[in-house]
Amino acid sequence: MQVPAPLEYERATSAADAIRLLERLGGEARIIAGGHSLLPMMKLRLANPEYLVDINDLHGELGYVRRVGQQVRIGAMTRHRELLESDELHEHFPIFRDAERVIADPPVRNRGTLGGALCQADPAEDLLSVCTTLNASCVIRDSRGDRVVPMEQFYRGPYETAVGQAEMLIEVRLPIRPGGSNAYAKVDLRSGAWAVTAAGAALWLDRHGRIADARVGLAAVGPSTTGIPEISAALRGSEPDAGAFDIAGRIAAESCQPVTDSRGSAAYKRHLAAELTRRTLATARDRILARAEGRA
Ligand SMILES: Cc1cc2nc3c(=O)[nH]c(=O)nc-3n(C[C@H](O)[C@H](O)[C@H](O)COP(=O)(O)OP(=O)(O)OC[C@H]3O[C@@H](n4cnc5c(N)ncnc54)[C@H](O)[C@@H]3O)c2cc1C
Repeated sequence: MQVPAPLEYERATSAADAIRLLERLGGEARIIAGGHSLLPMMKLRLANPEYLVDINDLHGELGYVRRVGQQVRIGAMTRHRELLESDELHEHFPIFRDAERVIADPPVRNRGTLGGALCQADPAEDLLSVCTTLNASCVIRDSRGDRVVPMEQFYRGPYETAVGQAEMLIEVRLPIRPGGSNAYAKVDLRSGAWAVTAAGAALWLDRHGRIADARVGLAAVGPSTTGIPEISAALRGSEPDAGAFDIAGRIAAESCQPVTDSRGSAAYKRHLAAELTRRTLATARDRILARAEGRA
């Protein structure tokens, strides 16, 4: 039987209370949200916190999807199921529903949170790739106040983020830019499993129907999931056609660093990175055109 090491447990009553507890308890304290990443690691003794600060009572404070000006803001305690079901989010960012449909299973989605998924910083985490693709920014809070960091700075590498010891991720902010849409696709070995490879794409067209901007974020093919700036540079000004998307696919395959493991060979994962990049860009384009023609 796998059992975590003995520990103390505190239930935070607000974000301010959670930060106070983290400050008081010191470096051996860890936040627990849905627990779907932390508890398995504790059972395997890969994580051995002396104190857990449970933030589940903060769902009222930090569980939301709301539009504020030209941003959609999502609280860190928003659960996978809520992201899946949110029409407000789907209107601008269908990529979330694409991703949430293939993340784990209902028990994990009922409990796991956006904040936990991002702070876990597993390079195979689907929402990390989604938020990178969308050029999200993250609000991190400590006892002195909030700071806002872009995803590129938030994610520092596998299992490492910009969130410090007595700090919390509070909110994720997604910029709404006109003329765009987005999509996500994943290949897994069985339904709801972790990705062999996955790709997210966001595309914006100008008034002539050419590509104004494009971003691609990959999952499970190496430590770097950033928006692949070479793809953005190569696509700007092009027609959104198969030729352009082929170029993007080739760049995606070249820029990732997959390893051969039980999920597949490095060569197969590179092939998937190219193919999923092509497909998600095409889906994003089709969604833009469908909206312009009043079909969506
Ligand atoms: C069976 C199974 C299948 C899965 N399949 C997938 C999959 O297909 N794709 C996928 O992407 N993921 C998958 N996951 C992972 C899961 O979706 C997320 O990792 C999980 O939901 C993380 O969220 P959580 O709220 O459970 O985080 P927790 O486990 O509670 O926390 C994870 C880490 O984040 C920290 N943390 C949590 N919230 C905050 C906060 N607000 N501020 C600062 N630090 C915080 C914790 O201290 C901990 O270090 C799977 C998990 C399981 C158990």
